[in-house]
Amino acid sequence: MNPNCVAMIRRQREEEEERRGHGTMAETTARPEFPSGEWRGVGVGSVGNVSRLQVAPPDHVGPTKRGHLVFNAAFESGNLGRVDCISEAEYDLFMRPDTCNPRYRVWFNFTVGNVRANQRAIFNLVNFSKTRSLYRDGMTPVVKSTSRPQWTRLPGKHVFYYRSPEHRGRYVVSFAFCFDREEDEYQFAYCFPYTYSQLQRYLDALQARGFDYVHRELLGLSVQQRRLDLLTITSPGNLGPGAKRRVVLVMARVHPGETPSSYVCQGLIDFLVSQQPAAVMLRERLVFKIVPMLNPDGVHLGNYRCSLMGFDLNRSWQDPSPWAHPTLHAVRRHVVTLQAQPNTSVEVCVDVHAHSTLANSFVYGNAFDEAERSSRQLFFPRLLCRNASDFSLASTTFDSDAAKAGTARRSLSTLLSSSCLSYTLEVSFSAFVPPHGGAAVPYTCGSYMNLGKNLARTFLDFYRLQGIIQSIPLSVASERHDRATKPRSGPGRSPKRAPTAPARSSTRDLHG
Ligand SMILES: [Zn+2]
Repeated sequence: MNPNCVAMIRRQREEEEERRGHGTMAETTARPEFPSGEWRGVGVGSVGNVSRLQVAPPDHVGPTKRGHLVFNAAFESGNLGRVDCISEAEYDLFMRPDTCNPRYRVWFNFTVGNVRANQRAIFNLVNFSKTRSLYRDGMTPVVKSTSRPQWTRLPGKHVFYYRSPEHRGRYVVSFAFCFDREEDEYQFAYCFPYTYSQLQRYLDALQARGFDYVHRELLGLSVQQRRLDLLTITSPGNLGPGAKRRVVLVMARVHPGETPSSYVCQGLIDFLVSQQPAAVMLRERLVFKIVPMLNPDGVHLGNYRCSLMGFDLNRSWQDPSPWAHPTLHAVRRHVVTLQAQPNTSVEVCVDVHAHSTLANSFVYGNAFDEAERSSRQLFFPRLLCRNASDFSLASTTFDSDAAKAGTARRSLSTLLSSSCLSYTLEVSFSAFVPPHGGAAVPYTCGSYMNLGKNLARTFLDFYRLQGIIQSIPLSVASERHDRATKPRSGPGRSPKRAPTAPARSSTRDLHG
């Protein structure tokens, strides 16, 4: 299609939107970002996602045919609000704003079907609410297809981030794609999806393994009655009367679009429930309380930042309401109950997030007036930096910013004793730069999970350096665990070999 025609079509559509008063992409608009006439909704699509929407070029007459793409986002965690077909080879795509909060338009997740073999198309995502993005620094959307179900990042050479004069100077991500298999449906997303159902399947499978050191409970329900799961991972003896309970609290996914945090959390859980000697020692001395998904409604709906009701829950921790922020209210109440129990102290809190503008993983911590308390906050990130080559101390910062008072790390540190350490752990949506330089390495689902394992190993170092976890030979801990959890008998069972020095193994980098 002639470029002048394309520009004319876009101009006509934007003028039409102006007449309808939608003021489409203004950063401050409080209205939905697309004309209501183009909404298609059933089920999850009823929040404004396109549902099996087939689009044909503007100059096409007659019945639709193969190659007229079918767009769908009416599924769990889906997000695509509108499609403008500029030509058979180019489409303008509009993200659906978060429910009840049109300020946030970042997460997208949709399928494309009815493709022609070797059909090429350019997709322009034209209504991002952010101007700064890792797309500027080489991040690319992820893709999978029916016959290739593993998510992969699109090649960087096919993705462009730029300020578009055709879209009133807004920032646009464009990517070119060649559909190679006619029978496949293709799925594109902002980053690797991780749905509420995926978490439920994972937790069901974990529960079915019957470990006596893993306890799953329903801590509460979301506004839409989804589960707020709490995992307690510890040796059963730690829950008995009179036992000293050192609690480590880890939470994830308060911001629903920050899917990497779920992979980090799953990596942590996988490690903690494993038979690795380090995991056995951690379970023997510590009580891990893990809330893997703080905002299940937002995740299910395909929001980026908010809950169903449009709240940024990580600004709502100070005084959560049981009806508006029920998951936060339940967690806060649980923490207060824990802290009130005899011999129990919540010692470390880590709230896992993903960052949309910075590379690497890093920590946000709290700054205090007391120098000793401030310097104590540095210890844990330094240990994490030793364990994870993707961790950046340079990006780690500490603040007492009033605007962050409603975050988990700030609010929980106020609620708990002054000795409690409370952090936000951030991991880039995109990539990490290795410690000694070189090209940035794009994160994968596996490397996000490795960060979770490295976080677990850092807890081991943290408590061992304080003398709370003894540097006993790992084989002893492992055998003790085998006796406690997996009683076996019979000849011919060879004893476990003693691993090498614990200090080295505990700081081993899993990215190698
Ligand atoms: Zn976040």
